[in-house]
Amino acid sequence: METQGQRSLSLEEAIPVPPIVGSLVHAYVVCQRKAWLMSRQICPDEDHVYLQIGRLIQSQSYSRERKEVHLGHLSLDLICRGGQNLVVAEVKKSSRALEAARMQLAFYLYELQEMGIEAEGELLFPEERRRERLILDENLSRQVENLKIRILALICRDQAPPPEKIRFCGKCAYAEFCWA
Ligand code: SF4
Repeated sequence: METQGQRSLSLEEAIPVPPIVGSLVHAYVVCQRKAWLMSRQICPDEDHVYLQIGRLIQSQSYSRERKEVHLGHLSLDLICRGGQNLVVAEVKKSSRALEAARMQLAFYLYELQEMGIEAEGELLFPEERRRERLILDENLSRQVENLKIRILALICRDQAPPPEKIRFCGKCAYAEFCWA
Protein backbone atom coordinates (compact mmCIF):
# COMPACT_ATOMS: atom_id res chain seq x y z
CA MET A 1 0.00 0.00 0.00
CA GLU A 2 1.22 3.53 -0.76
CA THR A 3 2.05 5.63 2.30
CA GLN A 4 2.09 9.42 2.32
CA GLY A 5 5.04 10.71 0.35
CA GLN A 6 5.30 7.45 -1.61
CA ARG A 7 3.82 6.78 -5.02
CA SER A 8 3.79 3.82 -7.36
CA LEU A 9 6.36 3.76 -10.12
CA SER A 10 5.11 3.73 -13.68
CA LEU A 11 6.48 1.02 -15.98
CA GLU A 12 8.85 3.51 -17.64
CA GLU A 13 10.21 4.60 -14.25
CA ALA A 14 10.53 1.07 -12.89
CA ILE A 15 12.38 -0.17 -15.97
CA PRO A 16 14.49 2.51 -17.66
CA VAL A 17 13.61 1.92 -21.31
CA PRO A 18 16.53 2.69 -23.63
CA PRO A 19 15.80 4.52 -26.88
CA ILE A 20 15.19 2.31 -29.89
CA VAL A 21 18.21 2.65 -32.14
CA GLY A 22 19.05 1.17 -35.53
CA SER A 23 21.31 -1.60 -34.23
CA LEU A 24 18.51 -2.72 -31.89
CA VAL A 25 16.09 -2.93 -34.83
CA HIS A 26 18.61 -5.02 -36.75
CA ALA A 27 19.20 -7.28 -33.75
CA TYR A 28 15.45 -7.76 -33.17
CA VAL A 29 14.86 -8.99 -36.70
CA VAL A 30 17.81 -11.41 -36.39
CA CYS A 31 17.10 -12.69 -32.85
CA GLN A 32 14.89 -11.31 -30.09
CA ARG A 33 17.25 -12.56 -27.39
CA LYS A 34 20.10 -10.63 -28.99
CA ALA A 35 17.99 -7.45 -29.00
CA TRP A 36 17.07 -7.91 -25.33
CA LEU A 37 20.74 -8.42 -24.35
CA MET A 38 21.74 -5.32 -26.30
CA SER A 39 18.99 -3.29 -24.65
CA ARG A 40 20.48 -4.17 -21.25
CA GLN A 41 23.94 -3.09 -22.42
CA ILE A 42 25.20 -6.63 -21.98
CA CYS A 43 28.24 -6.32 -24.21
CA PRO A 44 29.00 -8.99 -26.74
CA ASP A 45 32.50 -10.30 -27.21
CA GLU A 46 34.12 -7.13 -28.60
CA ASP A 47 37.09 -9.15 -29.90
CA HIS A 48 34.78 -11.42 -31.86
CA VAL A 49 36.30 -11.71 -35.32
CA TYR A 50 33.04 -10.96 -37.16
CA LEU A 51 32.55 -7.76 -35.18
CA GLN A 52 36.09 -6.68 -36.06
CA ILE A 53 35.66 -7.45 -39.76
CA GLY A 54 32.31 -5.66 -39.79
CA ARG A 55 33.81 -2.51 -38.23
CA LEU A 56 36.70 -2.53 -40.69
CA ILE A 57 34.42 -2.85 -43.71
CA GLN A 58 32.13 -0.15 -42.36
CA SER A 59 34.95 2.32 -41.76
CA GLN A 60 36.78 1.78 -45.05
CA SER A 61 34.09 1.34 -47.68
CA TYR A 62 32.93 4.27 -49.76
CA SER A 63 34.81 6.57 -47.35
CA ARG A 64 35.05 9.42 -49.87
CA GLU A 65 31.33 9.78 -50.49
CA ARG A 66 30.08 9.04 -46.97
CA LYS A 67 29.64 11.38 -44.07
CA GLU A 68 28.74 10.15 -40.60
CA VAL A 69 26.09 12.23 -38.87
CA HIS A 70 24.67 11.94 -35.34
CA LEU A 71 21.12 13.15 -35.10
CA GLY A 72 19.53 12.62 -31.69
CA HIS A 73 19.45 8.86 -31.13
CA LEU A 74 20.37 8.19 -34.77
CA SER A 75 23.85 7.55 -36.09
CA LEU A 76 23.69 7.76 -39.86
CA ASP A 77 25.91 7.47 -42.88
CA LEU A 78 24.76 10.11 -45.32
CA ILE A 79 25.57 10.27 -48.96
CA CYS A 80 24.86 13.55 -50.68
CA ARG A 81 24.78 13.23 -54.43
CA GLY A 82 24.86 16.62 -56.18
CA GLY A 83 21.33 17.88 -56.92
CA GLN A 84 19.68 14.61 -55.93
CA ASN A 85 17.84 13.52 -52.82
CA LEU A 86 19.52 12.97 -49.51
CA VAL A 87 20.54 9.33 -49.31
CA VAL A 88 21.05 7.43 -46.08
CA ALA A 89 23.42 4.52 -46.53
CA GLU A 90 23.87 1.43 -44.42
CA VAL A 91 26.99 -0.63 -45.02
CA LYS A 92 26.90 -4.33 -44.20
CA LYS A 93 29.52 -7.06 -44.36
CA SER A 94 27.16 -9.40 -46.16
CA SER A 95 23.55 -9.73 -47.26
CA ARG A 96 23.04 -12.77 -45.03
CA ALA A 97 20.69 -10.83 -42.74
CA LEU A 98 19.13 -8.87 -45.59
CA GLU A 99 15.71 -8.41 -44.01
CA ALA A 100 17.27 -7.11 -40.78
CA ALA A 101 19.43 -4.65 -42.77
CA ARG A 102 16.36 -3.47 -44.72
CA MET A 103 14.35 -2.86 -41.55
CA GLN A 104 17.26 -1.03 -39.89
CA LEU A 105 17.49 1.30 -42.85
CA ALA A 106 13.70 1.68 -43.05
CA PHE A 107 13.76 2.63 -39.35
CA TYR A 108 16.29 5.41 -40.10
CA LEU A 109 14.15 6.73 -42.97
CA TYR A 110 11.05 6.61 -40.76
CA GLU A 111 12.70 8.46 -37.88
CA LEU A 112 14.04 11.10 -40.29
CA GLN A 113 10.58 11.53 -41.79
CA GLU A 114 9.21 12.07 -38.27
CA MET A 115 11.74 14.91 -37.97
CA GLY A 116 10.53 16.36 -41.27
CA ILE A 117 13.51 15.13 -43.29
CA GLU A 118 12.81 13.21 -46.50
CA ALA A 119 15.52 10.79 -47.59
CA GLU A 120 16.04 7.65 -49.62
CA GLY A 121 17.98 4.66 -48.44
CA GLU A 122 20.77 2.61 -49.91
CA LEU A 123 22.02 -0.71 -48.58
CA LEU A 124 25.64 -1.30 -49.46
CA PHE A 125 27.39 -4.67 -49.47
CA PRO A 126 30.92 -3.77 -50.58
CA GLU A 127 32.28 -7.33 -50.38
CA GLU A 128 29.52 -8.49 -52.72
CA ARG A 129 29.77 -5.36 -54.90
CA ARG A 130 26.07 -4.91 -54.44
CA ARG A 131 23.79 -2.01 -53.56
CA GLU A 132 20.06 -1.91 -53.02
CA ARG A 133 17.81 1.13 -53.00
CA LEU A 134 15.13 1.48 -50.33
CA ILE A 135 12.17 3.84 -50.44
CA LEU A 136 9.95 4.36 -47.41
CA ASP A 137 6.39 3.90 -48.63
CA GLU A 138 3.20 3.59 -46.55
CA ASN A 139 3.45 -0.15 -46.25
CA LEU A 140 7.06 -0.01 -45.02
CA SER A 141 6.20 2.82 -42.60
CA ARG A 142 3.50 0.63 -41.06
CA GLN A 143 5.98 -2.23 -40.73
CA VAL A 144 8.41 0.07 -38.89
CA GLU A 145 5.67 1.32 -36.54
CA ASN A 146 4.67 -2.23 -35.78
CA LEU A 147 8.27 -3.27 -35.23
CA LYS A 148 8.87 -0.39 -32.80
CA ILE A 149 5.87 -1.49 -30.71
CA ARG A 150 7.10 -5.08 -30.62
CA ILE A 151 10.65 -4.02 -29.70
CA LEU A 152 9.34 -1.85 -26.88
CA ALA A 153 7.30 -4.78 -25.54
CA LEU A 154 10.40 -7.00 -25.69
CA ILE A 155 12.78 -4.63 -23.92
CA CYS A 156 10.26 -4.00 -21.13
CA ARG A 157 10.36 -7.70 -20.26
CA ASP A 158 12.43 -8.39 -17.18
CA GLN A 159 14.01 -11.53 -18.61
CA ALA A 160 15.63 -12.34 -21.92
CA PRO A 161 13.91 -14.84 -24.19
CA PRO A 162 15.71 -18.21 -23.94
CA PRO A 163 18.35 -18.94 -26.59
CA GLU A 164 17.22 -20.79 -29.67
CA LYS A 165 19.60 -22.23 -32.22
CA ILE A 166 19.18 -20.29 -35.43
CA ARG A 167 21.36 -19.90 -38.51
CA PHE A 168 22.86 -16.67 -37.13
CA CYS A 169 24.19 -18.18 -33.87
CA GLY A 170 27.44 -19.37 -35.44
CA LYS A 171 28.64 -15.84 -36.22
CA CYS A 172 26.93 -14.06 -33.32
CA ALA A 173 29.14 -12.24 -30.82
CA TYR A 174 26.82 -13.43 -28.01
CA ALA A 175 27.35 -17.10 -28.92
CA GLU A 176 29.57 -17.83 -25.91
CA PHE A 177 27.12 -16.09 -23.64
CA CYS A 178 24.24 -18.20 -24.98
CA TRP A 179 25.88 -21.53 -25.55
CA ALA A 180 29.04 -21.85 -23.38
S1 SF4 B 1 23.92 -16.80 -30.15
FE1 SF4 B 1 21.99 -17.22 -31.21
S2 SF4 B 1 20.43 -17.22 -29.59
FE2 SF4 B 1 22.23 -16.20 -28.77
S3 SF4 B 1 21.91 -14.03 -29.14
FE3 SF4 B 1 23.10 -14.80 -30.84
S4 SF4 B 1 21.64 -15.37 -32.42
FE4 SF4 B 1 20.50 -15.15 -30.48
